[in-house]
Amino acid sequence: MFDINTLVRKNILSLVPYSSARDEYKGEEAIFLDANENPFNTPLNRYPDPQQTKLKKRIAEIKGLPVENIFLGNGSDEAIDLLIRVFCDPGTDNVISIKPTYGMYKVCADINQVEFREALLNKDYQADIQLLLSLADNRSKLMFLCSPNNPTSNSLHRNDILLLIRKFSGLVILDEAYLDFSANRSLISELSSFPNLVILQTFSKAWGMAGIRLGMAFASRDIITLLNRIKYPYNVNVLTQRAALDHLQESAGKDAWVNMILDQRGWLQKELEQLAMVRNILPSDANFLMVKFDDPGKVFEYLIGKKIIVRDRSKVPLCEGYLRITVGSPGENQRLINTLQDLLS
Ligand SMILES: *Cc1c(COP(=O)(O)O)cnc(C)c1O
Repeated sequence: MFDINTLVRKNILSLVPYSSARDEYKGEEAIFLDANENPFNTPLNRYPDPQQTKLKKRIAEIKGLPVENIFLGNGSDEAIDLLIRVFCDPGTDNVISIKPTYGMYKVCADINQVEFREALLNKDYQADIQLLLSLADNRSKLMFLCSPNNPTSNSLHRNDILLLIRKFSGLVILDEAYLDFSANRSLISELSSFPNLVILQTFSKAWGMAGIRLGMAFASRDIITLLNRIKYPYNVNVLTQRAALDHLQESAGKDAWVNMILDQRGWLQKELEQLAMVRNILPSDANFLMVKFDDPGKVFEYLIGKKIIVRDRSKVPLCEGYLRITVGSPGENQRLINTLQDLLS
């Protein structure tokens, strides 16, 4: 039987969380003299709802998941950091991940002085199951997977992910930041079968709200409760909660954006393939393309000179020679292609 309490740090289990004024009285339409707020400058004068009740209800509807299984944070990055802090004793515990992948898993582990063990992806950019499991010992608390993966842009095989969830004795954190751009189904539907699964999603990509900083974690009620116990009480501010709620009223907008971005991804890929300087393009399940150049450094600098900024991933293991190019608007993508054509002539 899986027992989450055996994985949690002892000090977190015994922690008495901060109780805010707004935790103690949850009603509306009252005279609030409990939190030393300024009575003027409504509505920015009030502390935000620490549990983000309204916003979570709306997200629960969209995701088909109870509110109790949802954590909201200041970007996915907050959830990544809190997971490490709930489960990993500094200097003792370790976390496991694929390589290459999103850089924040390692940075958060490093900040918390938690050993970060990496298993290189195989030649098809898929998880090496045996290697990942062989890195685990009885101090391995978390395994970070990312699918579709950044920067390799492919999805991991669903069966591999499921196998890792079954075999790994700690929590598997599956980052689905780019899921909307792939044809694959989320593993949210598997949450009830796996008490050791945490799924991360974000408003920063398909939803077009990177600026408001709002990330989601979906997991068992026990795990969500632990995250809520150690988060800053007011981690999602008033403006963010309001902007997200406003925007979620019309979720058709997101689907239209995703379709346009997928259209543009196909167009961009075709145009890039016709350039002699392009060696390869990885198949993408995300809103970016990994493009291999003979001289990536030169192309990168040339584009900066033309005020087009891409990401140089050419020194990343398994990504040697590649630049990571986000799919932009039609006009931006056309400018990129025209600019690269100019370099040729
Ligand atoms: C962009 C990205 C995120 C989003 O992080 P936020 O903090 O929510 O903006 C999460 N995971 C991966 C792999 C990403 O590339």
